[in-house]
Amino acid sequence: MNKTHLIINKKALKANYELIRSKLNDDCRVIGVVKANAYGTDAISVAQQLINFGVEHLAVAYIDEGIQLRNAGISKPILVFYPQIDNFKALIDHQLTPSIYSFTALAAFKDVVTKAGKATFPVHIKVNTGMNRLGFEISELKELSKRLENKVLNVHGVFSHFAASGTPAHRDFTRYQIDRFQQAVHHFKQDFSSDILFHLSNSSGILSYPEAAYNAVRAGIALYGYGNHPQEDRQLQPVAELFATIIQLRTVHAGDSVGYERAFMAKKTCRIATLSIGYADGIGRIYGKGCAIVKVNGKSAPTCGNICMDTMMVDVSGIDCEEGDMVKVFGNDHSATSFDAYQQSIAYELITRISDRVPRILK
Ligand SMILES: *Cc1c(COP(=O)(O)O)cnc(C)c1O
Repeated sequence: MNKTHLIINKKALKANYELIRSKLNDDCRVIGVVKANAYGTDAISVAQQLINFGVEHLAVAYIDEGIQLRNAGISKPILVFYPQIDNFKALIDHQLTPSIYSFTALAAFKDVVTKAGKATFPVHIKVNTGMNRLGFEISELKELSKRLENKVLNVHGVFSHFAASGTPAHRDFTRYQIDRFQQAVHHFKQDFSSDILFHLSNSSGILSYPEAAYNAVRAGIALYGYGNHPQEDRQLQPVAELFATIIQLRTVHAGDSVGYERAFMAKKTCRIATLSIGYADGIGRIYGKGCAIVKVNGKSAPTCGNICMDTMMVDVSGIDCEEGDMVKVFGNDHSATSFDAYQQSIAYELITRISDRVPRILK
């Protein structure tokens, strides 16, 4: 294929899944996180692959993402991390599992469940242990138990989220979050049935805090081949590989500029390649002016000037290449982590932003 495209590497996905599994006890469930189009790949085909590997639970961010999976025939439990109250009816109609994170959400959801004529509906309770984004405070759990007494909401899971499990400098804070979560686990074990899924760890948690695995974990970025753990990271394999082609090559001379705002000024003669990919495809302007490199026939070519909407220019001086050649924007041997634009971005952001204009190929 000789145009811009994104390969989804099934073998890499499987290898990453197996690496994650190898860190966990056999009875620990992996909740496969496929939000944001499975981190910029393809939610439906990745979900199907994960189910083939034996994954029993999936998670998405928003209700519409869950509906998309249901419409594709996926019938496993799907947890919705950030359901919105005005869309609860659609969530129930599609048998999605909401995260209940506040008394307001709880009351609203109970109402919709009752109106839909259901006696009970499964939910996961979100507890805030220090991220301060969503969730009940530990001090609210007593009151929460009372409001759950009528069993309209059936607690299938209790979870919390790490703020900095990938940042070694915050180890003490992460341990504090584990302690807080332990309090919530204790509370729910006393007040509720025994088969609740307790899950705290995201990818970095799985890799760095095995003691926090409980009976389930939520694996996102590690499935796609990235993490924050210096050793384990090397074993993970990027699933997405993004390719573009060289549309045109030209030589510029000292004093010539390249691209909008003339952001690149040649100090000497250089060879410039124009690629078939730009910010409308997801390569943000933050990566311009040398803040990222692509691989041209195995050699590193830095971005040159500002990224354009549909194209970008790279400096291929001294690199053997021709018009029509395929360029690897990122992929297995050229990680998206090299696109951090001097710490102003992270791999998560780059990979989840690859737009719908780029065709996906499952391989
Ligand atoms: C996105 C997300 C995850 C997955 O996190 P990774 O770091 O990608 O593994 C887990 N839990 C919640 C609540 C999330 O929003």
